[in-house]
Amino acid sequence: MTDVPAPGQDLLFPPPAEFAARANVDAGEYARAAADPEAFWAEKAARLQWDEPWHTVFDGSTMPTAQWFAGGRLNVAVNCVDRHVTAGRGDKVALHWEGEPGDSRTITYAELQEEVCRLANALEGLGVGHGDRVVLYLPVLPETIVATLACARIGAVVSLVFGGFSAEALRFRVADTGARVLVTTDGQFRRGSAVGVKAAADAAVEGLDHVEHVLVLRRTGDATPDVPWTPGRDVWWHDVVDTASSEHEAPSFDAENPLFIIYTSGTTGRPKGLVHTSGGYLTHASWTHWAVFDLKDDDVYWCQADLAWVTAHTYEMYGPLSNGATQVIYEGSPLTPHPGRHFEVIEKYGVTTYYTAPTLVRTFMKHGPELPARYDLSSLRLLGSVGEAINPEAWLWLHRNVGGGRCPIVDTWWQSETGAAVVAPLPGVTPLKPGSGTVPLPGLSATVVDDAGEEVAPGVQGVLVITKPWPGMARTVWGDHDRFVRSYWEPYAERGYYLAGDSATKDADGYVWIGGRIDDVLNVSGHRLSSIELESALVSHPRVAEAAVVGAPDDTTGQRIIAFVITRGRADADDPDDAGLTAALRAHVGERVGAIAKPRDVVVVPDLPKTRSGKIMRRLMADMTAGRSGGDVTSLQDETALAGVEQAWARYLATRP
Ligand code: ATP
Ligand code: MG
Repeated sequence: MTDVPAPGQDLLFPPPAEFAARANVDAGEYARAAADPEAFWAEKAARLQWDEPWHTVFDGSTMPTAQWFAGGRLNVAVNCVDRHVTAGRGDKVALHWEGEPGDSRTITYAELQEEVCRLANALEGLGVGHGDRVVLYLPVLPETIVATLACARIGAVVSLVFGGFSAEALRFRVADTGARVLVTTDGQFRRGSAVGVKAAADAAVEGLDHVEHVLVLRRTGDATPDVPWTPGRDVWWHDVVDTASSEHEAPSFDAENPLFIIYTSGTTGRPKGLVHTSGGYLTHASWTHWAVFDLKDDDVYWCQADLAWVTAHTYEMYGPLSNGATQVIYEGSPLTPHPGRHFEVIEKYGVTTYYTAPTLVRTFMKHGPELPARYDLSSLRLLGSVGEAINPEAWLWLHRNVGGGRCPIVDTWWQSETGAAVVAPLPGVTPLKPGSGTVPLPGLSATVVDDAGEEVAPGVQGVLVITKPWPGMARTVWGDHDRFVRSYWEPYAERGYYLAGDSATKDADGYVWIGGRIDDVLNVSGHRLSSIELESALVSHPRVAEAAVVGAPDDTTGQRIIAFVITRGRADADDPDDAGLTAALRAHVGERVGAIAKPRDVVVVPDLPKTRSGKIMRRLMADMTAGRSGGDVTSLQDETALAGVEQAWARYLATRP
């Protein structure tokens, strides 16, 4: 697609003057960083509290395992908590926690410090020390953050597993990390009901001798009685934590001390356990949080991701806490007990900054603009998006109906591997284009190249690479360094580029447009088409709520385009069967993108298969249309969604003209 502008490319939203006047970062930052990236990052690292200064900002001698701030020592938990208390800001609210059933708690930085110290002592009492792995299988609770920080405080490597994962998915992560302790709850609230969790945790650790203790926090209590118990191994949180001392002396650790292991969401295959370290990661997380979210002292910031996703690690834990922010965290499903729950929470706490995901925006859109209109959202001043490319239609809807037309939207492109944002705007500086993460942040060098590593011309599709090492970069895949080298560094080894795995184009202004995963690029009669671009064209049609596009093998064209769509609104009165929908959507895509891009088949489905973090799993649908099976489905949110697509596909094949 060299000649057709992506939808949204023709729209430009300059920073509102009032916002720009108060912005944390000015336009000169891009040039300052470009002039001397190491000096730039050293300046950002100095925002943190170091116990010992580094002697070398960047040491590339062990690439692709970089060393940043070599020789420096710090404690990440002290940076996230104690530092603010010492500076006299212990009474500032760290967390406004909202539980799914409507219970809530407010925790100050001083209280957070006490809790973290208690748990640090308790974990040490359970034999956990520097370098040991601790897996957390918890919902979004203050204790989940306390546990993450307690691990950092004692130098244990934490790995958070989404509380909604199955015993099997948990077991893979517990075994892969070789965890010494698993932390979980008696039960969880899921979409309005209390369900037991401990039995799944038990199944996950069964026979894994390295797991010495399972630490159990009481959450659902009487609602989930008969918690299975293994004496000696299992320990109640309240027995060991509540009685522990709230004083704990924090040791300092090397800048390259492993901080956490994060498993990718598994959109493209078996999840990879990326290892992040301390000094460089925190520098990248902390500065980008402050700059991209334009953090002010009186902001009430809400990142709605589950704590187990990388988004939450960087922009709900380490980033905002290191900046002393006040945050909202919410335990429940966004649609429980009603679809306006998020807007209700924004109104209740006066949220100023709301960081969300395209999949959720599309869900809200199904309910119409009346939904957000019922709430007072005037406290909002900035919105954010992450997880997938946001369809321009969804961007405009969010901007208008949630942001009241006044809030910039920071669309942040990054990955588990990158640690923190790479392509994202500075909201007071960078003009926005709906659907693009704009340009690489200061200090980060990303571009779009062809197979040979040459930068492609504007509008030409290539792959996104990061051309220079950056402080937040992952250092390895846990237990599989070869996979780390092979997946990301081998393809452009000669140039030393990091291969992100996403296809992309750059426009004439240098803006980056993500087209989808490299594996999802479609090739129709020699034309390379991006799945995101086609899906965005489809969802810009009033009858389409969500869309997923895949390429199926075709003898003449190489691939043919199949669109799976979830419809919204009612079909025409004189066309109740939607017989005209296929023709209408083909024409619409033809108009928006080009004749070559018209989907051959349009299949209406009840739901789309997604990962637990809400990303569409195109590979499973591509497998289905090609007659392949057996792809990894352990990260699926809901297997019935895939079954529904399979049924719709079979019906479609049987009745296709
Ligand atoms: P796996 O690597 O196992 O397939 P994953 O890539 O889905 O899993 P994450 O690291 O959580 O796991 O997701 C990163 C990916 O999400 C990016 O590579 C990109 O495809 C997509 N992504 C995230 N944010 C954006 C964004 N703002 N715009 C476009 N794509 C995005
Ligand atoms: Mg990935």
